[in-house]
Amino acid sequence: MILPIVAYGDPVLRKKGEHITKDYPNLEALIENMKETMYGAFGVGLAAPQIGLPIRIFLVDTEPFSEDDEFTEEEQEQLKNFQRTFINAEILEEVGDEWAFNEGCLSIPDVREDVFRQPKVTIKYQDENFKTHTEVYDGLIARVVQHEYDHIEGILFTDKLSSLKKRLIKGKLVNISKGKIKVDYRMRFPLMKKKR
Ligand SMILES: [Zn+2]
Repeated sequence: MILPIVAYGDPVLRKKGEHITKDYPNLEALIENMKETMYGAFGVGLAAPQIGLPIRIFLVDTEPFSEDDEFTEEEQEQLKNFQRTFINAEILEEVGDEWAFNEGCLSIPDVREDVFRQPKVTIKYQDENFKTHTEVYDGLIARVVQHEYDHIEGILFTDKLSSLKKRLIKGKLVNISKGKIKVDYRMRFPLMKKKR
C-alpha cells in the first residue's frame, strides 16, 4: 500500500526516532508499505518519519543512480546492488573532507541544493530480521545513508544550508507545507486548508 509522504513543516519530521523491537506492530507490512511508497515516488531512500512514524527505520535503494555515466563501472555495479532496510541505526563514525552533492527529498519536492557531508560513514543497524550489522560506506551510498539517517534524528537537508540559501528557499518551503506545489505522488501537507 502506498502511504502519503509527509511534507516539510510537519512536526513528525522534527522528532528523534524511537528505537523499535521485533514486536513492533505489523512491522513486516510497514516495511513493505514503505518500499512501495519509496518506489512509487521514485525515491532512493525513505525514512519512517516521512510516512508519519517517529521511529528508527529507513530504507535505501541506490539502483536508480546506477545508470549515471559520471560513475565508474565498479561504482555503478555497487549502486545497482545496494538495497537495505536500516532498523535502529546508529552512525558510529564519519570521516574525511566534506564534499558537496546536490540533494533532494521526497518531503521537500522541487527543492534541490548542494549539501556538504563527510565521504565515509560507519553505521551499526539491524536488518529486517533484527540481525545486527556494522558496515562502512563511502561515496554516494554513504551520502544517501547520511540523508536518511538524518531523518530519524529529526534533521532535514535544508538545515545544512547556508543562512543565505535558507532565506532564498524560505517561501518555497512555506508553500510546500501549505500544499501549494505540484507533485506526482501522494503527500500529506501540515498547513493545507481543509476543504469544506
Ligand atoms: Zn529526505
